[in-house]
Amino acid sequence: MSQKLQPARGTQDIFGEEYRKQDHIVQVSTRLAACYGYESIATPIFEYTAAFRRPLGETSDVVGKEMYSFMDCGGEELTLRPEGTAGVVRAVISNGMTQNMPLKLSYAGPMMRYERPQLGRRRQFHQMGVECLGVNHPLVDAETIALGFEIMKSLNVAHRIQVQVNSIGDLASRQAYRQALVEYFTPFLSDLSPDSQARLTRNPLRILDSKDAKDKAIIANAPRFEDYLNDESIAFFNEVCRGLTVLNVPYIINRQLVRGLDYYTHTAFEFVTTDLGAQGTVLAGGRYDGLVQLMGGPEIAGVGWALGIDRLALMIDAPKLEAQTIAVVPIGETENIAFSTTMYLRNQGLTVDFLYSGNMVKRMKRANKIGAVAAVVMGEEELQTGQVIVKNMETGDQDIIKISTLETYLTTHFLTKK
Ligand code: ATP
Ligand code: MG
Repeated sequence: MSQKLQPARGTQDIFGEEYRKQDHIVQVSTRLAACYGYESIATPIFEYTAAFRRPLGETSDVVGKEMYSFMDCGGEELTLRPEGTAGVVRAVISNGMTQNMPLKLSYAGPMMRYERPQLGRRRQFHQMGVECLGVNHPLVDAETIALGFEIMKSLNVAHRIQVQVNSIGDLASRQAYRQALVEYFTPFLSDLSPDSQARLTRNPLRILDSKDAKDKAIIANAPRFEDYLNDESIAFFNEVCRGLTVLNVPYIINRQLVRGLDYYTHTAFEFVTTDLGAQGTVLAGGRYDGLVQLMGGPEIAGVGWALGIDRLALMIDAPKLEAQTIAVVPIGETENIAFSTTMYLRNQGLTVDFLYSGNMVKRMKRANKIGAVAAVVMGEEELQTGQVIVKNMETGDQDIIKISTLETYLTTHFLTKK
């Protein structure tokens, strides 16, 4: 028995309603980002492994256990991109764009991570993201979050989403906090999960991001970041919050919020919904002032986010098919003129499907199936006097009209102008 081929675990074919939803999310978000001055960029879906390992950090979940890394036939160490920011920053440096600051770039496309597949969590998933480089100003963080929130509004999901923000401070604050965490967690070392034990020496902040239940109980009483933020960090965060208020973005401060990747500073934020179970984060991001330099570029500030297209698709209805299709049905020896009429109408921007064969009943069924609003029936007899039959597929009414007026007739009777 031959085994049916399935898509690889954690991947899916995207078509029909799911395709329309994802496409809609990309269109809406990219269009809105453009209104905020973002220009699209597409980077390769694989990079040298080093492009991800350094910026994301050896202790991150992504580098530690989620990357699809391989050696190609030429012996190059490559990785399928697990996220967008590192690739965009690499592109900015490689192409000398660091001379053109500030820079606002957006991207959309597939990302790959080796994860346990479940609702809202796949091995190939899709993100749309924005990166604003070269502006070290707290109001930019607020503006960037506002863009995310406006996208949620346009997708009609803003009321089901909570905007959570936090500050993870500047480097000095983080070092002080890190020290406090090491002192707190060390006595609990043997009770922590193996992952968190490894994090304690390498990156204790990341323990706070643990999803392990036992870890969570210990984390509950850990020192709090807000007690270790220095005055600069507090002032910066207060400005971000002020900006959000000015921009009418409702938010809450979640002091537990830390981002899973190494390169964040100051502002961290997530858009969270309770609709998708454990996979409730639909957009996540923050400020990453050290990243460009870490990747070998000059000292350039940055802030950005990525939204999960697949997760958002679970929250929206599929947009209707836009096209209003006209079916052209040749009867007898009328195919040539039916074809040229079809081509003419298509060139005028109409959506026209040509129905080849089968008896009249079958073809009308087919016209219904493709959702045609009208069928243009081209019979030999009518064509002799330059006429065709147009059938309204909804009411069943028919009209005989001159072929020279067909386009106007179809447009005025069936097509809603966009
Ligand atoms: P999580 O905590 O859910 O693993 P993350 O912190 O790893 O998320 P980010 O790297 O910040 O996620 O990615 C930004 C967004 O991309 C997430 O908020 C989510 O909406 C989406 N996302 C991340 N990983 C996946 C995945 N495996 N499948 C589907 N969507 C994902
Ligand atoms: Mg993850």
